Amino acid sequence: HRTDRKSSKDSGVGSSDMDYGRVYRVAILGTGGVGKSSLLKQFVTSDFVDTYDSDPFTDEGEEDEMTVCVSVNKHETELYFFCAENVQEASIPDVDAFIIVYAVADRSSFAEAEDLLLQLHKKKLTQPVVIVGNKSDLVRARTVSTHEGKLVATVYGAKHIETSAVLKHQVDELLVGVTTQLRMRSGLDAD
Ligand code: GDP
Repeated sequence: HRTDRKSSKDSGVGSSDMDYGRVYRVAILGTGGVGKSSLLKQFVTSDFVDTYDSDPFTDEGEEDEMTVCVSVNKHETELYFFCAENVQEASIPDVDAFIIVYAVADRSSFAEAEDLLLQLHKKKLTQPVVIVGNKSDLVRARTVSTHEGKLVATVYGAKHIETSAVLKHQVDELLVGVTTQLRMRSGLDAD
């Protein structure tokens, strides 16, 4: 069992309002190769993450499950992230939020993301959904515009953000955005 402790903030925990006992489950969906596990790895290095546990059952370098403790404005929230390629894998009733990832340089991954959105929509789910256009660094190879991504998100009442896992661009914004939405849904202060 491998447990990584990025920093020990044990003495500081008492002063924040950690939502004790609650671990939010966040499914990261999207077709293979769009950067799901790369985004997850970058979450761990975020300044907003106090501690994390990586999954002890996956192979070295292949982590696709992680529990992180995110600290935003002294509020601490525990999030369990896991990657899945389809909706069936995600065991939906237990999921508190969805992150649907496509690559802006791969139109078929965008079509796949739309399909995932449609499947979730048909199930009349109420969990927050964030659509992520990853690989925004691949400027010349881009085939999906920011506008298209935003449009699809608007149609399905989801949020949209573009990220680059390799440049760590907008990754903190994604992490904090998901955390804030989960806290708001739970009626917790999200300021
Ligand atoms: P997954 O199958 O969705 O988990 O995708 P991975 O995280 O394994 O990434 C697939 C490939 O895309 C790897 O070679 C990554 O290095 C690469 N990749 C991931 N994110 C980015 C990104 O933001 N920009 C670029 N250029 N490559 C990326």
